[in-house]
Amino acid sequence: MRNKGKSVDFITLGCSKNLVDTERVMRQLQVAGFTVTADPEQPHAPIAIINTCGFIGDAKEESIRTILQFCERKKQGKLQRLYVMGCLSQRYFEELQTEIPEVDRFYGKFDFEKVVKELGSMWHSECNHERVLTTPAHYAYVKIAEGCNRTCSYCAIPIITGAYKSRPIEEIIDEVKWLVSEGVSEFQLIAQDLSWYGTDLYKTNRLADLVRSISDVPGVHWIRLHYAYPTSVTPELLDVMRERDNVCKYLDIALQHISDSMLKKMRRGVNKQGTYDLIARLRREVPGICLRTTLMVGHPGETEQDFEELVTFVKDVRFDRMGAFAYSDEENTYAATHYTDDVPDEVKHQRLSTLMAVQQKISDELNRQWVGREEEIVIDRLEGDYYVGRSQYDSPEVDLEWLVKADEALQTGRYYKARVISAAEFDLYAEIVKE
Ligand code: SF4
Repeated sequence: MRNKGKSVDFITLGCSKNLVDTERVMRQLQVAGFTVTADPEQPHAPIAIINTCGFIGDAKEESIRTILQFCERKKQGKLQRLYVMGCLSQRYFEELQTEIPEVDRFYGKFDFEKVVKELGSMWHSECNHERVLTTPAHYAYVKIAEGCNRTCSYCAIPIITGAYKSRPIEEIIDEVKWLVSEGVSEFQLIAQDLSWYGTDLYKTNRLADLVRSISDVPGVHWIRLHYAYPTSVTPELLDVMRERDNVCKYLDIALQHISDSMLKKMRRGVNKQGTYDLIARLRREVPGICLRTTLMVGHPGETEQDFEELVTFVKDVRFDRMGAFAYSDEENTYAATHYTDDVPDEVKHQRLSTLMAVQQKISDELNRQWVGREEEIVIDRLEGDYYVGRSQYDSPEVDLEWLVKADEALQTGRYYKARVISAAEFDLYAEIVKE
């Protein structure tokens, strides 16, 4: 334990996939005797590691801002060593090294072992499936694959992460079993593209098999699926979702747009009719399924009529959860090299707020329909006078929260039956049902 007393602050930006990478490196340094802290309010350690995001404009700016903040701490003598890893440094490695020499070393997205070696330790492969959880102790993200083989016009992720690489089912099951032994009961399955799982490693789609295997692990209470792709949702997957009680009736599936011309320009490999048919199939095969989607406005070539089709689509489908963002021109993407970013920024932002306003009205109506309904929820935390929880239809950080008045002591991480007594914009007020 020669690193006893040495400490490292980790700052993680971007998505839950980055968070899993941070948690793995934290565990490796912890095994080596370091004290590791995630996203400290008050950074204090002599060593800092920033895990960056390099997906789109805003995320890149935030990563740069954070790096410069820590460079400032170094100038002030509050920090001895600063390291940067993740998507931004993978994507702009040379430029960053030249432009920000205050950083001791930049690493690529998957240089985890190099980071650990830099701090004088070795990679402990026997701890490969172990992590330092930075989420509340009862839930964890499980990354089932890296990379992406899709060719979406606007997306830089395949440039950053490379080709799709599924993790072997056995390795994922080992990780889930280890997490259960650490007290985790809720699992968010994530990848850049969940529904391509197995196609590379097993030459066939094995997502349904993987979900069934995780569902068989004792102690797994909820499994929630994120980042599905519209052209690879197999009948077998929907069967598992319908048949298994511990597989949440929830699917996060980014659809991006609906007009045929936009879906073609975006190179999504699906058309308007195919998208409507998919949603009908999801709701038919998994009754009561909660659908989360992500849509994009302002992609090159988007006409007013394309946008009207998108608004109609959102009104027709009435998604339970929806996020949207405006196109940003990302260099070296297909769109940036083949199209002109011809939708003015003000039009992009106008369309974005119009779309979100349509969805907000739908969310309000759907939330009100919950009043009087009973559902199992998990308690995430106590916040002021309320316990904050979620149902199987609510993913952490992004979806609805259930607020239960703290009249009686409830346990964090435990599941309770609750009845909705009123609905607000982003929350449901509920009471515990006495069994
Ligand atoms: S599926 Fe498309 S949008 Fe998602 S990571 Fe892959 S290329 Fe990007």
